[in-house]
Amino acid sequence: MGVPAQVQVPESYRDPVDKAEGRHFRWGGPGPGILDILRGRHDGSPVGWDSGMVPGVILPPPCPPPRRSCNLLPEGPCLLPPTVPGPLPTDPLPMPENPAPASPPHLSPSAEPSRAPVAATGPIPDLVVVGGGLVGLATAREAARLGAVVEVLDRGRPGDGASGAAAGMLSPLAESPVDGPFLDFALASLALWPAWVLELEEETGLDLQYQEAGKLLLARDAAGADELQARMGWALQRGLGARWLRDEALAREAPGLSTEHLSAGALLLEDDYRLDNRAAVRALHGSAKAAGVQVRTGTEVTGVIMDGGACTGVRTTDGIRRAGRVLLAAGAWTGGLEGLPFPLPIRPIRGQMLALEAPELAGGRTLEAGEIYLVPRADGRVLCGATVEPDAGFSARPDAGGLLHVLAQSLQLLPELAGAPLVETWAGLRPGTPDGLPLLGPLGDPAGPWVAGGHFRNGVLLSPATARVVAPALLAAGSPGEGVGPIPQAFSPARFAP
Ligand SMILES: Cc1cc2nc3c(=O)[nH]c(=O)nc-3n(C[C@H](O)[C@H](O)[C@H](O)COP(=O)(O)OP(=O)(O)OC[C@H]3O[C@@H](n4cnc5c(N)ncnc54)[C@H](O)[C@@H]3O)c2cc1C
Repeated sequence: MGVPAQVQVPESYRDPVDKAEGRHFRWGGPGPGILDILRGRHDGSPVGWDSGMVPGVILPPPCPPPRRSCNLLPEGPCLLPPTVPGPLPTDPLPMPENPAPASPPHLSPSAEPSRAPVAATGPIPDLVVVGGGLVGLATAREAARLGAVVEVLDRGRPGDGASGAAAGMLSPLAESPVDGPFLDFALASLALWPAWVLELEEETGLDLQYQEAGKLLLARDAAGADELQARMGWALQRGLGARWLRDEALAREAPGLSTEHLSAGALLLEDDYRLDNRAAVRALHGSAKAAGVQVRTGTEVTGVIMDGGACTGVRTTDGIRRAGRVLLAAGAWTGGLEGLPFPLPIRPIRGQMLALEAPELAGGRTLEAGEIYLVPRADGRVLCGATVEPDAGFSARPDAGGLLHVLAQSLQLLPELAGAPLVETWAGLRPGTPDGLPLLGPLGDPAGPWVAGGHFRNGVLLSPATARVVAPALLAAGSPGEGVGPIPQAFSPARFAP
């Protein structure tokens, strides 16, 4: 849906409420979360779907670092990281407050470059990953832990793409209007996140601001309420935590919610978490490097090198980089790479966002009504998003109309936010696909290039499961999809082969 031509700014925005008098939010924080339990802070209450927690997250015992002499482990790899000498610097990768505006991919005809500094360094890696967003970094890290020599090439810095622009919601059910393979995969990925957070925070010293806060999906009208209640029906059958709330019960969960939304009702989803995606990028970058991944920033890949059906490397603006295997994880730009066995229908779908300072919301439920959501962060900001713009091309800059739309809709949900200071605006490009599902797997011949892309609105949520299924399948090492299952057939890139 594009930005409406005309946006009505609510009265409350034009005449801001006095902050001192008007804002008395009392959000009830959720009980102990999975992370509390993993950290030993659990108070003894039950763990399971009934308590709104994902069961079955077990930390494996420590294991030795992968062997570096032989590139690929022949069997049964350990998925824990190699021992690192000590905590990494607290901020291994400074992230800009506003992600750098994205620029179009390099699409000039590929000529054999005369200089090849990228190729000149080190042995041929087992795997080259194109793109250092959450998907690329997570999969590179997983592959390195399986014993592979891995290099990530990013034309900018990790997090420059959608991963640095996202809202950080981990929302399997809210993103699943119907039951099916997407929901299965999303739930499996959600279940991996708590242990990931624990491990990444301990390894890097970064705070990922992870919160198991739940989400309220707000109905706009009676038809919307019917759709949400139907979703609640099958969610409950699957044992997921879902409840229908309205009026006073809803007001208790979302103080300050507009009366219009209180009477329309909302679906409370307990199995809905959130984190700071920029911190997650920094942590994964640091962790991947600690696992032995070489991350080359400022290296733009222009296309793949094919030899028959096999992909033997990539062309970069710095030269040719040979590789045992190639994984394309360049987000919205993946489809612009040259030489692919068939065109990839991944295209940019811009999302504009802004952040307000509203510390009284910290710990409260995430609110979502249609495409608009409010995501409280532990640091006292609330993220308001987002436009869904399929026609903005590769421009990742916010504009006045888009921001006004997000702001106006946000204030319709919580009018008392009108007095909150505006602290940041930005935009990012979601990697969209025609059916809204990601593309995971080889482009035709298994020896050809592989892709992990097209995660659209859910790349933060899906990164752990993507890494878990793609890395072992691509390297033919380890147990494919341990704890997640094989790559879902519905995600096969072959569905778009001519
Ligand atoms: C506004 C917004 C809100 C979102 N909110 C959420 C959310 O709450 N939860 C959620 O799960 N998901 C969310 N998403 C979606 C999520 O951000 C994406 O699905 C995810 O970040 C995609 O990750 P990626 O690694 O595939 O791509 P990206 O993060 O875009 O990374 C691609 C990388 O490839 C690099 N690159 C591009 N071209 C080349 C090239 N030719 N050579 C070398 N490197 C290249 C880029 O520099 C970039 O670093 C949101 C997205 C947006 C825009």
